[in-house]
Amino acid sequence: WKHAPATFRDMLELTRLHGNKDFLVYEDERITFEEHYRLAATLAHRLVTDYGVRKGDRVAIAMRNYPEWVISFSAALAAGAIVVPLNAWWTDRELAYGLSDSGAKVVIADGERAERMAGSGLPMIVTRAEGANWSEVLGEVRADVTLPDVGLRPEDPATIFYTSGTTGLPKGALGSHRNLCQAPMTVAYALLQAVALAGGDPNESVGIRRITLLTVPLFHVTGCMAVLMGTMLSGGGLVLMYKWDPQRALELIEREKITVLSGVPTNAWQLLSHPRLHEYDISSLTSISYGGAPAPPKLLERITELLPNRTPANGYGMTETSALAIYNSGDDYRRKPDSVGRPLPVIDVKVCDPAGNELPRGEVGELHIRGPIVIMGYWNRPDATAETFSGGWVRTGDLARIDEEGFVYIVDRAKDMVIRGGENVYCAEVEAAIFEHPAVDDAAVIGIPDEELGEQVGAVVRLKPGATATAEELQEFLRGRLAAFKVPTKIWFRDAELPRNAAGKILKTRLKEETLGR
Ligand code: ATP
Ligand code: MG
Repeated sequence: WKHAPATFRDMLELTRLHGNKDFLVYEDERITFEEHYRLAATLAHRLVTDYGVRKGDRVAIAMRNYPEWVISFSAALAAGAIVVPLNAWWTDRELAYGLSDSGAKVVIADGERAERMAGSGLPMIVTRAEGANWSEVLGEVRADVTLPDVGLRPEDPATIFYTSGTTGLPKGALGSHRNLCQAPMTVAYALLQAVALAGGDPNESVGIRRITLLTVPLFHVTGCMAVLMGTMLSGGGLVLMYKWDPQRALELIEREKITVLSGVPTNAWQLLSHPRLHEYDISSLTSISYGGAPAPPKLLERITELLPNRTPANGYGMTETSALAIYNSGDDYRRKPDSVGRPLPVIDVKVCDPAGNELPRGEVGELHIRGPIVIMGYWNRPDATAETFSGGWVRTGDLARIDEEGFVYIVDRAKDMVIRGGENVYCAEVEAAIFEHPAVDDAAVIGIPDEELGEQVGAVVRLKPGATATAEELQEFLRGRLAAFKVPTKIWFRDAELPRNAAGKILKTRLKEETLGR
């Protein structure tokens, strides 16, 4: 290849370099790069000829992490469509919202979701179901099939990913072909840097084939833009899981000799604290990276203890930055475990006040990010787009500070802050302190409306099975760790799991409704 890929079509052509290597592994199925190319090209032609898909039309995918997800994604992009990965965890109503919001023309779905979207009346290509017509749709897969030529340009829109919906209704993030190609290049750089920071030589490690275990859904940018696209660019292998299951993950790491574990912090934590961990050979792992949510400090300690010579990494990113933007790995991470690291190349960061004026180093304000991974805007949401994007910068909605060495610390989500009598209380800080208590399994801090103070600090806590603790004990414990005004005045205990979305993040609005009864 003569130049770095700038459209997904370039990227697909590039994967032919990896020809007969295994690309996707799912249970006992294995698909090589060449097979994937042919299947995707064949489906792309069908989308154009049988379904009338034209450049810019939206093709939705509603599936669990099957190989067909990847083939459909590649095919839709090669056909010139804007691909819309729908959240497979969504309810019927949410799926219907995704279809109508994106204005999908065709849907590619697995059996379960196809049934639930049958009422949409849209043409549907179905796989993984009794009597599914997937192979009928594909027809003959010829060895000499090539991609349709639909005249793609780097600035053409490519993807609509829905944000996780942690702070409100999920927004459709419109990304370009350039964003899609830039994201894995950013990841590739991050991995080389991680090897160097762990004291290794990136040139030597090039000889080891990267086999990644996908622990997160493909319909979010971490799974798709960072992991899947990163695998395509590097020619590594990707092991898919229908759903996250730590025991199954241990089996797969041993069987497939997984080298890279990447996902959300919960994945790594559940894996490394699994009661049967010692029964499995996980020595093939060379790097353990996570992001998408705050990583508890005990996770880094656990990695250092169990896998001392490996590279741990914490990455920060969001749907609006096509996944990874800021990265902390190796010795940097060990030295500054609270930081998400420094921005990756060609990415700029700054911290601003609410009016958008840059603040001096070290002060807490809203984090802004600029670079070729910043998306085009929100689909169908001109107001939200104008509020969030300007001059190439995206406002992250996260509060952060940057230290003298340029390391970024995420303090909290701006919307997650409790303002108690004019004093800012960062939920994330209080949650981290609660987590230090040995009886605590899970916890979330919420603001309780208060006439006098505006808001009070409240906490919802789930204890470990068999563990006991009273609200007074927890408050006493926290008083030794936090300023008095940050200690929750009310603590609710609950047995049920805290409500989380597919990205593993606690849905605070729902938790508030459930707890405060509104
Ligand atoms: P919505 O925008 O719909 O409310 P969301 O912001 O959770 O949902 P995503 O784009 O999936 O949707 O998540 C991005 C957010 O995740 C960031 O804005 C940040 O709050 C959080 N995040 C990502 N990586 C990290 C990290 N390494 N540490 C702490 N927080 C992180
Ligand atoms: Mg967000």
